[in-house]
Amino acid sequence: MPNRFDLHAHSTASDGTLAPAQLMQRAHAAGVGVMALTDHDTLEGLAEAAAAAAGLGLEFVPGVEVSVSWQGLTVHIVGLGVAAEHDALQRGLAGLREFRDWRAEEMGRRLAKAGIGGVYEGARGLSNGRLISRTHFARFLVDNGHAPDVRAVFRRFLVNGKPGHVPGQWAELEDAVRWIRAAGGQAVIAHPARYPLTRGKLRRLLGEFIEVGGEGLEVVSGSHSRDDYFTMAKHARDFGLLASAGSDYHGPEHPWIELGRLPELPDGCKAIWKDWQISH
Ligand code: AMP
Ligand code: MN
Ligand code: MN
Ligand code: MN
Repeated sequence: MPNRFDLHAHSTASDGTLAPAQLMQRAHAAGVGVMALTDHDTLEGLAEAAAAAAGLGLEFVPGVEVSVSWQGLTVHIVGLGVAAEHDALQRGLAGLREFRDWRAEEMGRRLAKAGIGGVYEGARGLSNGRLISRTHFARFLVDNGHAPDVRAVFRRFLVNGKPGHVPGQWAELEDAVRWIRAAGGQAVIAHPARYPLTRGKLRRLLGEFIEVGGEGLEVVSGSHSRDDYFTMAKHARDFGLLASAGSDYHGPEHPWIELGRLPELPDGCKAIWKDWQISH
Protein backbone atom coordinates (compact mmCIF):
# COMPACT_ATOMS: atom_id res chain seq x y z
CA MET A 1 0.00 0.00 0.00
CA PRO A 2 1.43 3.41 -0.90
CA ASN A 3 1.30 6.18 1.68
CA ARG A 4 -1.82 8.36 1.48
CA PHE A 5 0.19 11.29 2.77
CA ASP A 6 2.68 13.40 0.83
CA LEU A 7 3.89 16.24 3.03
CA HIS A 8 6.71 17.76 0.96
CA ALA A 9 6.47 19.11 -2.61
CA HIS A 10 7.34 22.16 -4.71
CA SER A 11 5.53 24.29 -7.30
CA THR A 12 6.47 27.16 -9.63
CA ALA A 13 6.21 29.43 -6.58
CA SER A 14 9.76 28.17 -5.85
CA ASP A 15 11.77 25.63 -7.85
CA GLY A 16 9.08 23.18 -8.96
CA THR A 17 7.92 23.08 -12.57
CA LEU A 18 4.15 22.57 -12.05
CA ALA A 19 1.85 25.42 -11.03
CA PRO A 20 0.27 24.87 -7.58
CA ALA A 21 -3.09 23.84 -9.11
CA GLN A 22 -1.42 21.43 -11.56
CA LEU A 23 0.54 19.87 -8.71
CA MET A 24 -2.69 19.21 -6.79
CA GLN A 25 -4.32 17.67 -9.88
CA ARG A 26 -1.37 15.38 -10.43
CA ALA A 27 -1.22 14.35 -6.77
CA HIS A 28 -4.94 13.55 -6.76
CA ALA A 29 -4.65 11.56 -9.99
CA ALA A 30 -1.72 9.62 -8.51
CA GLY A 31 -3.85 8.54 -5.54
CA VAL A 32 -2.50 10.89 -2.85
CA GLY A 33 -5.19 11.63 -0.24
CA VAL A 34 -3.49 14.32 1.86
CA MET A 35 -1.11 16.65 0.03
CA ALA A 36 1.11 19.48 1.26
CA LEU A 37 2.71 22.29 -0.71
CA THR A 38 6.06 23.22 0.85
CA ASP A 39 7.82 25.71 -1.40
CA HIS A 40 11.24 27.04 -0.42
CA ASP A 41 10.99 30.23 1.68
CA THR A 42 7.62 31.38 0.29
CA LEU A 43 3.88 30.95 0.92
CA GLU A 44 3.03 32.40 -2.48
CA GLY A 45 1.48 29.22 -3.96
CA LEU A 46 -0.71 28.20 -1.01
CA ALA A 47 -3.95 29.98 -1.92
CA GLU A 48 -4.00 28.56 -5.46
CA ALA A 49 -3.17 25.06 -4.20
CA ALA A 50 -5.83 25.19 -1.48
CA ALA A 51 -8.52 26.22 -3.97
CA ALA A 52 -7.52 23.52 -6.45
CA ALA A 53 -7.41 20.81 -3.75
CA ALA A 54 -10.85 21.82 -2.46
CA GLY A 55 -12.27 21.42 -5.96
CA LEU A 56 -10.79 17.93 -6.22
CA GLY A 57 -11.80 16.70 -2.76
CA LEU A 58 -8.10 16.39 -1.92
CA GLU A 59 -7.08 17.16 1.67
CA PHE A 60 -4.59 20.05 1.60
CA VAL A 61 -1.86 20.93 4.10
CA PRO A 62 -0.43 24.45 3.72
CA GLY A 63 3.32 24.26 4.23
CA VAL A 64 6.72 25.78 3.62
CA GLU A 65 10.36 24.60 3.51
CA VAL A 66 12.52 27.08 5.40
CA SER A 67 16.25 27.36 4.63
CA VAL A 68 18.38 27.31 7.80
CA SER A 69 22.11 27.62 8.42
CA TRP A 70 23.32 25.32 11.18
CA GLN A 71 26.99 24.79 12.03
CA GLY A 72 28.04 25.98 8.58
CA LEU A 73 25.60 23.65 6.81
CA THR A 74 22.29 24.34 5.08
CA VAL A 75 19.46 22.43 6.74
CA HIS A 76 15.83 22.50 5.58
CA ILE A 77 12.94 22.75 8.01
CA VAL A 78 9.48 21.94 6.71
CA GLY A 79 6.55 23.72 8.38
CA LEU A 80 3.21 21.90 8.14
CA GLY A 81 -0.19 23.48 8.76
CA VAL A 82 1.05 27.07 8.66
CA ALA A 83 -1.35 30.01 8.39
CA ALA A 84 -0.22 32.09 5.41
CA GLU A 85 -1.35 35.39 6.87
CA HIS A 86 0.93 35.18 9.90
CA ASP A 87 3.28 38.17 10.23
CA ALA A 88 6.38 36.70 11.89
CA LEU A 89 6.55 33.88 9.35
CA GLN A 90 5.95 36.22 6.42
CA ARG A 91 8.60 38.67 7.63
CA GLY A 92 11.12 35.90 8.29
CA LEU A 93 10.61 34.42 4.82
CA ALA A 94 10.86 37.87 3.21
CA GLY A 95 14.33 38.22 4.78
CA LEU A 96 15.40 34.87 3.31
CA ARG A 97 14.16 35.90 -0.12
CA GLU A 98 16.25 39.08 0.11
CA PHE A 99 19.32 36.94 0.72
CA ARG A 100 18.27 34.75 -2.26
CA ASP A 101 18.11 37.79 -4.55
CA TRP A 102 21.55 38.99 -3.49
CA ARG A 103 23.00 35.48 -3.67
CA ALA A 104 21.66 34.99 -7.20
CA GLU A 105 23.40 38.13 -8.43
CA GLU A 106 26.59 37.11 -6.62
CA MET A 107 26.44 33.65 -8.20
CA GLY A 108 26.10 35.35 -11.58
CA ARG A 109 29.16 37.51 -10.88
CA ARG A 110 31.23 34.53 -9.75
CA LEU A 111 30.24 32.41 -12.74
CA ALA A 112 31.03 35.35 -15.06
CA LYS A 113 34.52 35.56 -13.53
CA ALA A 114 34.90 31.85 -14.25
CA GLY A 115 34.09 32.61 -17.90
CA ILE A 116 30.36 31.82 -18.06
CA GLY A 117 28.40 35.00 -18.64
CA GLY A 118 24.67 35.77 -18.60
CA VAL A 119 23.73 33.06 -16.12
CA TYR A 120 22.02 35.34 -13.60
CA GLU A 121 19.80 36.81 -16.32
CA GLY A 122 19.07 33.35 -17.70
CA ALA A 123 18.20 31.86 -14.31
CA ARG A 124 16.08 34.91 -13.49
CA GLY A 125 14.18 34.36 -16.75
CA LEU A 126 13.46 30.73 -15.83
CA SER A 127 12.16 31.75 -12.38
CA ASN A 128 9.44 33.84 -14.06
CA GLY A 129 10.03 36.73 -11.68
CA ARG A 130 9.22 34.54 -8.68
CA LEU A 131 11.59 33.11 -6.07
CA ILE A 132 15.01 32.27 -7.51
CA SER A 133 16.84 29.09 -6.50
CA ARG A 134 20.00 27.24 -7.48
CA THR A 135 17.70 24.90 -9.41
CA HIS A 136 16.97 27.73 -11.87
CA PHE A 137 20.72 28.24 -12.36
CA ALA A 138 21.12 24.52 -12.89
CA ARG A 139 18.34 24.34 -15.50
CA PHE A 140 19.77 27.31 -17.40
CA LEU A 141 23.28 25.82 -17.41
CA VAL A 142 21.92 22.48 -18.69
CA ASP A 143 19.81 24.18 -21.39
CA ASN A 144 22.94 26.00 -22.55
CA GLY A 145 25.12 22.92 -22.75
CA HIS A 146 27.38 23.55 -19.74
CA ALA A 147 26.52 20.18 -18.17
CA PRO A 148 24.48 17.11 -19.19
CA ASP A 149 21.95 17.27 -16.34
CA VAL A 150 20.95 19.16 -13.20
CA ARG A 151 22.90 16.89 -10.89
CA ALA A 152 26.07 17.38 -12.91
CA VAL A 153 25.62 21.18 -12.76
CA PHE A 154 25.48 21.06 -8.97
CA ARG A 155 28.61 18.93 -8.86
CA ARG A 156 30.57 21.12 -11.26
CA PHE A 157 29.39 24.63 -10.44
CA LEU A 158 27.11 25.09 -7.47
CA VAL A 159 28.46 23.27 -4.42
CA ASN A 160 31.16 24.22 -1.94
CA GLY A 161 34.51 24.83 -3.67
CA LYS A 162 32.98 25.32 -7.16
CA PRO A 163 32.91 28.58 -9.11
CA GLY A 164 29.23 29.46 -8.64
CA HIS A 165 29.06 28.59 -4.95
CA VAL A 166 28.05 31.28 -2.46
CA PRO A 167 27.82 30.18 1.19
CA GLY A 168 24.30 30.22 2.61
CA GLN A 169 23.31 32.83 5.17
CA TRP A 170 19.92 31.47 6.05
CA ALA A 171 17.71 31.56 9.15
CA GLU A 172 18.81 30.41 12.60
CA LEU A 173 17.29 27.04 13.50
CA GLU A 174 15.58 28.59 16.48
CA ASP A 175 14.02 31.39 14.43
CA ALA A 176 12.73 29.06 11.71
CA VAL A 177 11.01 26.84 14.27
CA ARG A 178 9.61 29.87 16.10
CA TRP A 179 8.12 31.37 12.90
CA ILE A 180 6.50 28.05 11.98
CA ARG A 181 5.03 27.54 15.46
CA ALA A 182 3.83 31.14 15.67
CA ALA A 183 1.91 30.50 12.43
CA GLY A 184 0.25 27.46 14.03
CA GLY A 185 2.42 24.90 12.25
CA GLN A 186 4.54 21.90 13.17
CA ALA A 187 8.26 21.97 12.37
CA VAL A 188 9.85 18.94 10.70
CA ILE A 189 13.49 18.34 9.71
CA ALA A 190 13.41 17.67 5.96
CA HIS A 191 15.32 14.77 4.32
CA PRO A 192 17.60 14.20 7.36
CA ALA A 193 19.69 11.52 5.65
CA ARG A 194 20.82 13.95 2.98
CA TYR A 195 23.02 16.19 5.12
CA PRO A 196 26.74 15.52 5.26
CA LEU A 197 26.58 14.89 9.02
CA THR A 198 28.07 12.15 11.14
CA ARG A 199 25.62 10.18 13.23
CA GLY A 200 26.77 12.06 16.33
CA LYS A 201 26.35 15.45 14.74
CA LEU A 202 22.93 14.56 13.32
CA ARG A 203 21.84 13.57 16.81
CA ARG A 204 23.11 16.89 18.10
CA LEU A 205 20.96 18.63 15.48
CA LEU A 206 17.93 16.59 16.59
CA GLY A 207 18.55 17.51 20.22
CA GLU A 208 18.83 21.23 19.47
CA PHE A 209 15.79 21.07 17.20
CA ILE A 210 13.66 19.60 19.97
CA GLU A 211 14.97 22.13 22.48
CA VAL A 212 13.68 25.00 20.33
CA GLY A 213 10.27 23.37 19.75
CA GLY A 214 10.76 21.13 16.70
CA GLU A 215 8.40 18.13 16.55
CA GLY A 216 9.00 16.02 13.48
CA LEU A 217 11.53 14.14 11.36
CA GLU A 218 10.97 13.32 7.69
CA VAL A 219 11.60 9.60 8.01
CA VAL A 220 10.27 8.73 4.55
CA SER A 221 11.56 11.06 1.83
CA GLY A 222 11.76 10.72 -1.93
CA SER A 223 15.49 11.30 -1.53
CA HIS A 224 16.01 8.56 1.08
CA SER A 225 16.99 4.95 0.51
CA ARG A 226 15.17 2.08 2.25
CA ASP A 227 18.02 1.88 4.73
CA ASP A 228 17.62 5.58 5.46
CA TYR A 229 13.92 5.03 6.35
CA PHE A 230 14.89 2.58 9.07
CA THR A 231 17.85 4.59 10.36
CA MET A 232 15.71 7.73 10.60
CA ALA A 233 12.78 5.85 12.14
CA LYS A 234 15.14 4.74 14.90
CA HIS A 235 16.37 8.31 15.48
CA ALA A 236 12.75 9.51 15.59
CA ARG A 237 11.88 6.88 18.18
CA ASP A 238 15.00 7.58 20.28
CA PHE A 239 14.21 11.31 20.36
CA GLY A 240 10.43 11.07 20.59
CA LEU A 241 10.04 12.89 17.27
CA LEU A 242 6.92 12.44 15.13
CA ALA A 243 7.54 10.87 11.72
CA SER A 244 6.66 12.55 8.43
CA ALA A 245 6.61 11.39 4.82
CA GLY A 246 7.16 13.56 1.75
CA SER A 247 8.24 13.02 -1.84
CA ASP A 248 10.09 16.35 -2.30
CA TYR A 249 8.54 16.32 -5.77
CA HIS A 250 9.80 19.09 -8.11
CA GLY A 251 7.96 18.19 -11.34
CA PRO A 252 7.78 15.54 -14.06
CA GLU A 253 11.18 16.62 -15.45
CA HIS A 254 12.76 15.06 -12.34
CA PRO A 255 11.56 11.50 -12.97
CA TRP A 256 13.53 9.92 -10.11
CA ILE A 257 10.78 11.13 -7.76
CA GLU A 258 7.08 10.57 -8.58
CA LEU A 259 3.88 11.41 -6.70
CA GLY A 260 1.80 8.68 -5.05
CA ARG A 261 4.66 6.22 -4.63
CA LEU A 262 5.85 6.84 -1.08
CA PRO A 263 5.83 3.80 1.20
CA GLU A 264 4.15 3.71 4.60
CA LEU A 265 6.12 4.76 7.68
CA PRO A 266 8.19 1.96 9.21
CA ASP A 267 6.59 0.13 12.17
CA GLY A 268 6.90 1.88 15.50
CA CYS A 269 6.80 5.43 14.10
CA LYS A 270 4.33 7.94 15.49
CA ALA A 271 2.92 9.78 12.50
CA ILE A 272 3.00 13.59 12.50
CA TRP A 273 -0.64 13.47 11.32
CA LYS A 274 -1.88 11.33 14.26
CA ASP A 275 -3.83 14.23 15.82
CA TRP A 276 -4.87 15.98 12.62
CA GLN A 277 -8.54 16.45 11.86
CA ILE A 278 -8.92 14.94 8.40
CA SER A 279 -12.39 15.07 6.89
CA HIS A 280 -12.08 12.24 4.36
P1 AMP B 1 18.68 26.69 -3.03
O1 AMP B 1 17.65 26.60 -1.93
O2 AMP B 1 18.41 27.81 -3.99
O3 AMP B 1 20.09 26.71 -2.52
O4 AMP B 1 18.51 25.39 -3.90
C1 AMP B 1 18.39 24.15 -3.29
C2 AMP B 1 17.61 23.24 -4.23
O5 AMP B 1 18.47 22.78 -5.25
C3 AMP B 1 17.14 21.99 -3.53
O6 AMP B 1 15.89 22.19 -2.96
C4 AMP B 1 17.04 21.01 -4.67
O7 AMP B 1 15.82 21.20 -5.35
C5 AMP B 1 18.15 21.44 -5.58
N1 AMP B 1 19.38 20.65 -5.41
C6 AMP B 1 20.30 20.78 -4.44
N2 AMP B 1 21.33 19.91 -4.62
C7 AMP B 1 21.03 19.23 -5.74
C8 AMP B 1 21.69 18.21 -6.49
N3 AMP B 1 22.87 17.71 -6.10
N4 AMP B 1 21.08 17.77 -7.61
C9 AMP B 1 19.90 18.27 -8.01
N5 AMP B 1 19.24 19.23 -7.37
C10 AMP B 1 19.79 19.70 -6.25
MN1 MN C 1 14.20 22.45 -4.33
MN1 MN D 1 15.15 20.49 0.83
MN1 MN E 1 12.12 20.30 -0.84
